[in-house]
Amino acid sequence: MSIKENLAKVREQIPSHVKLVAVSKTKPVEDLMEAFDAGQRAFGENKAQEMINKQPQLPEEMQWHFIGHLQRNKVKYIAPFVSLIEAVDSLRLMKEINKEALKNDRVIDCLLQFHIASEQSKFGLDLEEASAILEDPEYKTLNNIRITGVMGMATFTEDEAILRREFSTLREIHNKLRHKYFSNTTTFKEISMGMSGDFKIAIEEGSTMVRIGTAIFGERNYPV
Ligand SMILES: *Cc1c(COP(=O)(O)O)cnc(C)c1O
Repeated sequence: MSIKENLAKVREQIPSHVKLVAVSKTKPVEDLMEAFDAGQRAFGENKAQEMINKQPQLPEEMQWHFIGHLQRNKVKYIAPFVSLIEAVDSLRLMKEINKEALKNDRVIDCLLQFHIASEQSKFGLDLEEASAILEDPEYKTLNNIRITGVMGMATFTEDEAILRREFSTLREIHNKLRHKYFSNTTTFKEISMGMSGDFKIAIEEGSTMVRIGTAIFGERNYPV
């Protein structure tokens, strides 16, 4: 099946209120262009170097989502054009993004990444850590970033009960933060969860944004 056909098949399974991010990491620009020609606009990359290599070769209208762990020394390279940084998990990183956003005279949208899977990972916040950041006086001075929601990755499993539990945990976290810290805005609305293997369950559990790679572009040649 072609990328175009894969995309159509994925889109059939996604309601219109859920945003589709086509995860194009490791894939050549020709593949992204094929998806673009089929109407896809948001693309997800998890390496800064790869994103900055691809971006100038592709149409301006492409929206670039950074979905991986972002090192602070790489922020400056993506700050001019990135449309959403999905995996923010520290105040230090937020400060760096804010600084580079300011230099580029823009506001950069970010999601807070939460650790919801049972697998060990260095990345992602829990509710307490997120609250500490959002209550930090320094956070309140960051006028060039805007937190528009949360992001998380479930355990790599086919066990539906585990997936549902983890996705609903992220939805509850979003809800709590929204009430406590974002009640005077309408922009804290995204719950980015769901990948090729689990997006249907994620959508049932309240996802507003799915990040899908393999089901659109096929298997990646090397795991990342
Ligand atoms: C690779 C990746 C995806 C997409 O995974 P697929 O299983 O290929 O759909 C989604 N989110 C993140 C953070 C990723 O790194």
